[in-house]
This record gives sequence, structure tokens and C-alpha cells, in this order.
Amino acid sequence: MPLHNTRQLSARPTNAIESDALHRSGQTYIFPEISHDPQAVYRTIHAQLVLDGNSQHNLATFCTTWIEPEVGLLMDESADKNMIDKDEYPQTAAIEERCVHMLADLWNSPESASTMGCSTTGSSEAAMLGGLAMKWNWRKRQNALGKRTDSPNLVMGPVQVCWHKFCRYFDVNIREVPMENERLLLTPDEVLKRCDENTIGVVVTLGVTFTLQFEPVHEISMALDKLHAETGLDIPIHVDGASGAFLAPFLEPNLLWDFRLPRVRSINASGHKFGLAPLGVGWALWREKLDLPDELIFDVNYLGGNIPTFALNFSRPGGEIICQYYNFLRLGKAGYRRIQSECSDIGRELAVQIAAFGPFEIIYDGVGGIPGVCWKLRDPARTPFTLYDVADRLRDRGWLVPAYSMPPNREDLVIQRILIRHGFTREMARELLLEMGRTIEHLQHRSHGALRPDAGSGTHNHSGR
Ligand SMILES: *Cc1c(COP(=O)(O)O)cnc(C)c1O
Repeated sequence: MPLHNTRQLSARPTNAIESDALHRSGQTYIFPEISHDPQAVYRTIHAQLVLDGNSQHNLATFCTTWIEPEVGLLMDESADKNMIDKDEYPQTAAIEERCVHMLADLWNSPESASTMGCSTTGSSEAAMLGGLAMKWNWRKRQNALGKRTDSPNLVMGPVQVCWHKFCRYFDVNIREVPMENERLLLTPDEVLKRCDENTIGVVVTLGVTFTLQFEPVHEISMALDKLHAETGLDIPIHVDGASGAFLAPFLEPNLLWDFRLPRVRSINASGHKFGLAPLGVGWALWREKLDLPDELIFDVNYLGGNIPTFALNFSRPGGEIICQYYNFLRLGKAGYRRIQSECSDIGRELAVQIAAFGPFEIIYDGVGGIPGVCWKLRDPARTPFTLYDVADRLRDRGWLVPAYSMPPNREDLVIQRILIRHGFTREMARELLLEMGRTIEHLQHRSHGALRPDAGSGTHNHSGR
């Protein structure tokens, strides 16, 4: 079922007169003078929302687009729950706390019962909190050694934009390892080249946004162990597990990426991605109590009771957290494994079929990362269309399959990506492949006439995206 659709009112189509009455002569930016009938307003907005894309055909997003009916019910029941108000909603607070410790257990924290962690609005807020903890801990280390604290830096590979935000918002120098040639991920050597006494930490991404691949946390951790032994520099790792932290434990339980590695001090994850919760929940966890500096925790007492908070937001809905808890109980490890394996299998099958079309070369075949596939043109110079053309044409047919250029230093490389999420079926995969086949045929055919009125369209510039 679509999100939040449990209480649709009557199916009566919107009536144009109602809609006009709500927005007089198209003045949609003017604050209304008078009140309106709730059903008429509902129908008008409902009709507007129908024109949004079909989220099931959006293969660009990482986020939850399918929920069970029970999750819809719990979301409805939780509309009034403010998760910050732990005194009024102690049950919701207890549920959040249980989720934190269940995740600590899932991610093999040595002290899963007493470790520190919290829910957030998503991985972006969790990344800010993880980054701040690293910055504070680094400053303490430097102060203890009588060293300067005016120029912190953070080392990372091709990260999601939240880490660029963190560095800019919180005055940390960004040391981003660029992509070079075929190397599209962070490697131990590149990390070591950039670490010094002002490095607050290294961000390793489990499930890179651009290519879906997991970065090698274990190898980077071993390289930093060696650096520690040789130089005394003890640099922590934060794992951005926005997607991967809800995939690796089920798909690759033996992959060492989590708190089993002592150097991994903190992890963030998006509950609303492969955690399968509705939009609006993420998680930030620290390995041990000491990894989260006390100074970052505020005590608030004006809601009744004494409430420690570590968050950028204050008031926030509780429903997503409650539904995350529902998923943990409902699915267990077995359920998550079943769902994620199914998605992963579909991704691999699609990779094989997409390679078989001919013009595409697979960059990520769905093995060892996020369920999905990404590819580039095998021979861009001799292909009469670009991946942007493919994306445009598929979009016209209702499918969102994004094409985009890579970050520095591979801005020349354009790739296209499909993400497989819960709710994407083999039947949908078949439909998509048919549509892709027709698209390729159309684009090749278009360029075959002797006169090509649109000659050059295959290389037109989409750099604005
Ligand atoms: C999605 C994503 C983020 C941001 O997460 P939100 O939950 O959307 O705030 C950060 N890092 C990675 C690797 C991501 O995939």
C-alpha cells in the first residue's frame, strides 16, 4: 500500500469548481482569507498529489516506498506523539531506547546494553552528530597533548552531500579522496596519505551513493592500526552505513565493518532506507559510552523529568521510530534477510540482462553492495545516444532511472543506476527491461536516417543536472 493512505476519503473525483474556489484565479501563493470545507480541501490536495510520480517506479531513491498496512495503522495512531517529550510519552521513549540497543547488538557493540545512541531524522542528522563527537574527542586529545586545535580535518572518499555539509557547517577541513581512473572508492593507501594529527576521523561509506558499492572498512581499519603502531596517531573510523548498516548484517554477516573492529567508533544508518521504516528516521550509535563526549549532551527539564538530549532537532514525530520497532519485531533477522536477499537477487539478474543489451558496460553488478546495478556506455563516442537520453525516454514512460556524472576527478564518467527496494517485483523488472529494450531501439533507430535533423542530440549538454 502507498504510504499514509489508510484513510482515503470517498473516491469521488475532485470537482473543478471546488478546486477553483480554493485558489481564486490561480493565486496559489496568497494566504487564504476564509475557511473551507475539509472534504473539499482534502479532495483538492489528494488530486494534486496523484500527479506526483509513482514511487514504485522511482528506481532512483534509496528510501522506503512500501509499507505494511499495520505500519500505516501505527503511523495513524502515533500522529500526536512527540518523541522528544519522553515524560509524556515514556512508552515511545522506551521503544526508541530498545531500538538503539537492538541496533548496538546487531552491529556487535561490545557493550550493547549500555552503549550510547539515538534516533535522528535520517542519516544526515546522524552524520552531523557523529562528526561532532569526532571533533570534540579530537580536541580533547589535542588539548591533553598541549597541541593546537584550530585546524581539524576529516578524511573521506566519494561521500553523500551530508558530509560536505558537516564540514562546512562545523568548520572542519574536508579531505576528500578524489576518484581516479577505475578507482571509484576509498582505499587504505589514499586514506593514509591524508591523515595527520589534525585528522578528527575517517568516514568510510558502506554503500556509496554513486555506485552502490561498499568501501573496504576492514582494510582501512587495519591500515590505521598500522599507522597507530608506527606513529602513535590513533584515528577513529565513522562508518556511514546509511544503507549498508541495514544490509550487511543480513546479506554478509561475516563482513567485518561494524563494532567488531575496535577502530569503528560510531555508525550512522537510515531507518527509512533499508531499515524499511517510513520516512523520517535515522540512527547514530557509538561503540562505547566514552566515544560520545558528555559535553554534547544537554539536559532539559522543562517538559517534566530530566531528559538528556543529543540531537539537532527538538520536537520530532515518534511514529517512524515506533514503526522501526515494529519492523524489528515483525521481521527479525530472518525477515530482513529474506527481503534484502530477494532485492539483491533481482539486482543481479537485472545486471545480467542489462549487460546483454549490448551498449552498456556494468560497473556494479549487484554483488557485495546495495541491491541494484549501475552501468556506463561501453563506447560513448560510437553510441548514437547518451545515458541522459535513456533516462529522459524512460522518464517519459514513467520510470525514474537516473543518469548522472561522477564527482571529481571523474566528472567525465556518466553512469546510470537502478536501486532495488522492497516492493520491486520480478514482474516489474520484466516490464522495465521491455521498456529499456524499446528505448534503446528507439534511440538507435532515431539516429539511423541519412538526414539527422537532431544530429548532435546524442551529446547534448545535460551538465546542469
Ligand atoms: C542517503 C544517504 C545519506 C543521507 O541520509 P538521509 O537519511 O537521507 O538523511 C548519507 N549517506 C549516505 C551514504 C546515504 O546513502
